[in-house]
Amino acid sequence: MSEKEFDYYLKGEKGEYEVVIGLEVHAQVLSEAKLFSPSATKFGSEPNSQVSLVDAAMPGMLPVINKFCVEQAVKTGLGLNAKINTFSKFDRKNYFYADLPQGYQISQFKHPIVGEGKVILDMPYGTKEIGIERLHLEQDAGKSIHDQDPKNSLVDLNRSGIALMEIVSKPDLRSPGEVGEYIKKLRSIMRYLNTCDGNMEQGSLRADVNVSVRKKGSKEFGTRCEIKNVNSIKFMQQAIDYEARRQIELIEEGNEVDQETRLFDTKKQETRSMRSKEDAHDYRYFPDPDLLPLRLEDSYIEDLKKSLPELPDHKKQRLISEFKLSNYEASVIISDQAVSTYYEEVAKNSDYKLAATWLMGELFATLNKEGKDITESPVSAVNLAKMINLIKDGTISGKIAKTVFEEMIKNDGDPSKIVEDKGLKQTSDPKEIENIVNKVLETNQDKVEQYKSGKDKLFGFFVGQVMKEMKGKGNPQMINDILKNKLK
Ligand code: ADP
Ligand code: MG
Repeated sequence: MSEKEFDYYLKGEKGEYEVVIGLEVHAQVLSEAKLFSPSATKFGSEPNSQVSLVDAAMPGMLPVINKFCVEQAVKTGLGLNAKINTFSKFDRKNYFYADLPQGYQISQFKHPIVGEGKVILDMPYGTKEIGIERLHLEQDAGKSIHDQDPKNSLVDLNRSGIALMEIVSKPDLRSPGEVGEYIKKLRSIMRYLNTCDGNMEQGSLRADVNVSVRKKGSKEFGTRCEIKNVNSIKFMQQAIDYEARRQIELIEEGNEVDQETRLFDTKKQETRSMRSKEDAHDYRYFPDPDLLPLRLEDSYIEDLKKSLPELPDHKKQRLISEFKLSNYEASVIISDQAVSTYYEEVAKNSDYKLAATWLMGELFATLNKEGKDITESPVSAVNLAKMINLIKDGTISGKIAKTVFEEMIKNDGDPSKIVEDKGLKQTSDPKEIENIVNKVLETNQDKVEQYKSGKDKLFGFFVGQVMKEMKGKGNPQMINDILKNKLK
């Protein structure tokens, strides 16, 4: 649903409502070991093959903080323009569940490692700043499996103890569209930083979605519902849409929204109550006695700051000023770091406008069709640049280039060689073109008359005929010029 349609619904059918959204995103830290144990974290491994005694919560086991995970969290915080807290602490969040062998989750409650920050969204109606409340480190739980044994539930503890970053936004989001952009932006920043792979199908990025509605212009927030553990952008958007309508309906009927935790049923596309505020958990947080507070040196933070790569916002502005890209082109190109690297290599060695056109046109279409990403591109940046240079120096036309490109896809062929081998070189000999133009005009006397008496559209027909005679290899600009001259 587009931004406008959503807005229209909220206004048109139910009065002047707006929806208010805040996200608690769980991002799995990209790390080969868990937050407090050396177990591996590889996705899709044999169940319970990556479980140490710490992850299984055997009595007397002690957690040891993984320095690398701390570094990843600090880097992410810096990428979110956030305050890094030099003092932070781990707490126990107590609850019972079969996939939580410790009986508590180690998390950060009062003193998170990262404080307030911000993320900039590029919306069709302008840029919008979304506040970040905090980012804290915590452990993931295991996974209960209910569909493999007819009588029993099974548990896989591979995830148990994996490091998560919980990134909490302020309630600044106002539509499903903004939520989509926010998630994409977070993912892009973390992928640039290499701190989270952002792989939503594998559960590396998921969110609790808090939704409330209020009359437009109202200063107070409405009562929110929290939709737990949504793992795709589409589902987040559908859940918000459903939830906003449900809450508006309640209010319009004179009822109140209960603060509750809900789940999103992806099949029925509706949210359902899990528990209300009255039976909300009391987690009895207390500082984990096995872990010392984390104290970070300023110099450590400074060094990490210096090690950061160029991030999406900065790169976008640079591409716009350096390569004269449009805002749209730059947004598309920077959304994936590998795409932007590819683009820059092509642009620097050929023509930056044509580079953007070919990358976002033919190459994206090819990658899409073949289900590949840019790092698996059948056409290398070097060869695409060479091909663009052949267009620029007039060796081939843009049209022939498509044929050349088709050939290049097959085995990343050298475009000059393909042009040579297939005899695709463009004819730019004015004499030769003129002869064919004359021939075409002679055999189409009637159409020439019609053209001269005002049927301008026929110009395209003449161009087409000449091109056909020349087997597509005529220089289009020259054909145009010569035809215009003859038909004056
Ligand atoms: P809790 O930890 O109990 O879930 P928080 O105050 O930390 O509560 O808020 C969690 C999330 O809910 C945050 O992302 C915040 O932006 C969002 N939020 C808070 N109030 C509202 C509201 N009225 N409507 C929508 N989202 C809200
Ligand atoms: Mg919450």
